[in-house]
Amino acid sequence: MTYSFELGPIRPPSEAYSLLIRVTMNCPWNRCKFCPTYKGEKFQLRSVENIKQDIKTAKSIQDKIKELSWKSGYGGRVKEIAASVFNNPPNEAFRNVALWLYTGGESAFLQDANSLIMRTNELAEVIRFLRETLPSIKRVTSYGRSKTAAKKKPEELTELYEAGLSRLHIGLESGYDPLLQYMDKGATAAEHIKGGRNIVESGISLCEYVILGLGGKEMWREHAIETARVLNEIDPDFIRVRTLAVHNKMPLYNEIENGNFIQATDEEIVEEEKLFIEHLECHSNYVSDHITNLLQEIEGKLPQEKEKMLASIDRFQSLPPEEKTNFRVGRRVGIYSHLDDLYDLCKHQAVEQAIQQLGQGNNQINEEAIHTLMGRFIV
Ligand code: SF4
Repeated sequence: MTYSFELGPIRPPSEAYSLLIRVTMNCPWNRCKFCPTYKGEKFQLRSVENIKQDIKTAKSIQDKIKELSWKSGYGGRVKEIAASVFNNPPNEAFRNVALWLYTGGESAFLQDANSLIMRTNELAEVIRFLRETLPSIKRVTSYGRSKTAAKKKPEELTELYEAGLSRLHIGLESGYDPLLQYMDKGATAAEHIKGGRNIVESGISLCEYVILGLGGKEMWREHAIETARVLNEIDPDFIRVRTLAVHNKMPLYNEIENGNFIQATDEEIVEEEKLFIEHLECHSNYVSDHITNLLQEIEGKLPQEKEKMLASIDRFQSLPPEEKTNFRVGRRVGIYSHLDDLYDLCKHQAVEQAIQQLGQGNNQINEEAIHTLMGRFIV
């Protein structure tokens, strides 16, 4: 037996410790201008039999780690052995199972971009098999597309919920139709709403992703207001924001090179986020857990923590210009995580040095330098 199984390239930040089970390969749409992840890769469904085999292999690796624990005198406790396997794994499947076991073995994430595209009865069968084979799993989540969720009958999503699908992560990106069309998202605002409502009504928890800055300099205002409107109608459990970062594997890169799309600055995106939050009237948890976000402290439960979130924006906007620059560079070179870091003298000086280097000694940085730094954060 080969102790290995299929692994896809990404999972949401919140699924960093999940067991990864690849139920489909790549993205069936694969046209979004801002997304480099599966470009050049062909979408494939996988057979239920192959997926079940991967789940059995994950169990065999789990059993091997447990066996090693007994043999090493840890009495079946897996943490110590899982840590050592994680640091020196024979392959990536072992590393994934070791990390999953080390963190309690309670969650699994189904890859890749749109698991909902599987036949509902087959996906339900996979989820049931996963939970039966690895009963420590308490939460099963996956990515899905709004358009596919909009096409599913409500009873199909209920079937998935009853099979044990706990949460779907959906890339909403924007609620503004001209922007969705320009970015070739392959979903309209109305489809986002229908797909989102279908999921919420089935009982499956819903996390919607929004890209700050996606409207660039031209459509930022409509992007903020219309995205809030669509989310208010969906009322998902989570809204997760990321900030547009561009590199040359994205079709959007060429649009920028050709002058068809002009990226917004950090300060403009903060203004956009302010407008976005002001227009949100839903009951979601707002999460900023992505490295591309300038202000990661903007988090909270809506509506009760809206003022607190807006206060963080106000705090940034009230900084003197040189401190704004210092904070932006500090975030983009990975020295700062929160606004309070501005008061850490060592970090502040390290950022000043970074500014000198980026500005070639004249203490000025241009937007292009910031955008280039951000491009490093994404695959
Ligand atoms: S954003 Fe999602 S739907 Fe669009 S190409 Fe990327 S993976 Fe596919």
